[in-house]
Amino acid sequence: MQKKVKEDFFKASWKYEEAPESTNHIQIKKQYDLFIDGQFVKPVGNKYFDTIDPSNHRKIASVAEAESEDVDKAVKAARKAFRSWSKISGKERGKYIYRIARLIQEKAREFSVIESLDGGKPIRESRDIDIPLAANHFFYYAGWADKLTYAFPNRNPTPLGVVGQIIPWNFPLLMAAWKIAPALATGNTVVLKPAETTPLTALKLAEIIHESGIPNGVVNIITGAGKTGALIVNHPDINKIAFTGSTNVGKYIQKAIAGTSKKLTLELGGKGANIIFEDAAIDQAVEGIVNAIFFNQGHVCCAGSRLFVQESVADLVIQKLKNRMETLIVGNPLDKNTDIGAINSKKQLETIKNYIEIGTNEGGEIYQPKCSIPKKGNWCVPTLFLNVSQSHRIVQEEIFGPVLAIQTFRTIDEVIEKANNSPYGLSAGVWTQKGSKIFNLTQKLNAGVIWANTFNKFDPVSPFGGYKESGFGREGGLHGLKPYVKFESYFN
Ligand code: NAP
Ligand code: MG
Repeated sequence: MQKKVKEDFFKASWKYEEAPESTNHIQIKKQYDLFIDGQFVKPVGNKYFDTIDPSNHRKIASVAEAESEDVDKAVKAARKAFRSWSKISGKERGKYIYRIARLIQEKAREFSVIESLDGGKPIRESRDIDIPLAANHFFYYAGWADKLTYAFPNRNPTPLGVVGQIIPWNFPLLMAAWKIAPALATGNTVVLKPAETTPLTALKLAEIIHESGIPNGVVNIITGAGKTGALIVNHPDINKIAFTGSTNVGKYIQKAIAGTSKKLTLELGGKGANIIFEDAAIDQAVEGIVNAIFFNQGHVCCAGSRLFVQESVADLVIQKLKNRMETLIVGNPLDKNTDIGAINSKKQLETIKNYIEIGTNEGGEIYQPKCSIPKKGNWCVPTLFLNVSQSHRIVQEEIFGPVLAIQTFRTIDEVIEKANNSPYGLSAGVWTQKGSKIFNLTQKLNAGVIWANTFNKFDPVSPFGGYKESGFGREGGLHGLKPYVKFESYFN
């Protein structure tokens, strides 16, 4: 862009007044115990850890740390509850799941604020995406509870038993919904552990679950760090582990349960390719690039963190992208104007900063807009790397932050090869006007989810999951029921 045009562009940009969401309508306890057998109970070791607000490092609440005996209590409660829960009719199970869905909707505003406080994501996202989607997952799977014989005709699906579920910090309530809803619909009982840095909405969900009147022990929510997760994984009376998190921990879990009869689904990391062809609607594609990598501070397993732009439009796309980045607002997660909130933890911020340093040292050309960030808290300015190639670490490895690596391509075959040259296979995006190109690519890209002319769109009806080191098993849709049932016909 010419210098003058660029200056005019910035002069014309909007100034926003602060518009913070209020916090006076939320209820957070000072201290949270473990939700076991329908009650909040103190941890046996009486140990608690702090959960903090990553935008200002203030403590929000103390949360119980579950140790071996607590995990055992939760599994025992789930086992006891399974005996009757697995026997009641699907219609009856559905009734409770619908109730949970409705209660989430009723308390959506409170959930959104707590999600943004505890995890750092912009209120706009928790309000419009995380919380409504979480409710939708419960609604969707409530609908399946009495129709399992239609989902799996002639196969007599039966539940697996007690399911251990471990989730990460990037979509705390949504991941809890992805795990709990299909497990309950199929007649399993659950022991779930949220991530150490974001336990509060899962604990709020525990209150709702209690309020729904679902029988005690059907859902148990226990808090703690990785050690507590490992105790769930290794508990001998668990029938299935459903894990969402990093590929490293996924590999550890796979090893830990090898040789046992436990079933496993893994939803792991990613390094999604976002591919822009010269015939794409460029302005929409630029919005798509921003959404693909800066949504939720880039803490998204399916983020479009590798951008491939066709050479003929690369200069235009990159200039428009840089201009758009100048308008992104980084700051208070509770401000309704905020586009990019706080990085979830100091540890994650260090990881991201380290990758930015690696990218620069390896010769990448860095670009960051001139945006102001608050003094206190965990912040990262949205970042682009140009002039990088397939061998750069920031192109290969998952950063899990607002950092985009940009490459160009000339032909379809070239971009397919580059896009598939990754140990991961979770997501991809394709931007073009040509339907034939979309179908051609979607056949050849090794990714569980491929978006056409959009990115990071989720729906409970649509299955989600990965290939290669992004894991196995699907969540969402009809496919999401299957990992929670076994079949008694010989068609297994
Ligand atoms: P993580 O470190 O693997 O942690 C995930 C969960 O596992 C947390 O609850 C964690 O506890 C627990 N955990 C840690 N060590 C464990 C162990 N040895 N045994 C059992 N559980 C253990 O991942 P993260 O940093 O929280 O999340 C980011 C990762 O999740 C990224 O790689 C991202 O791509 C992936 N992710 C994938 C999907 C998907 O659907 N494919 C969705 C979202 C995120 P603490 O955190 O409390 O220590
Ligand atoms: Mg927190």
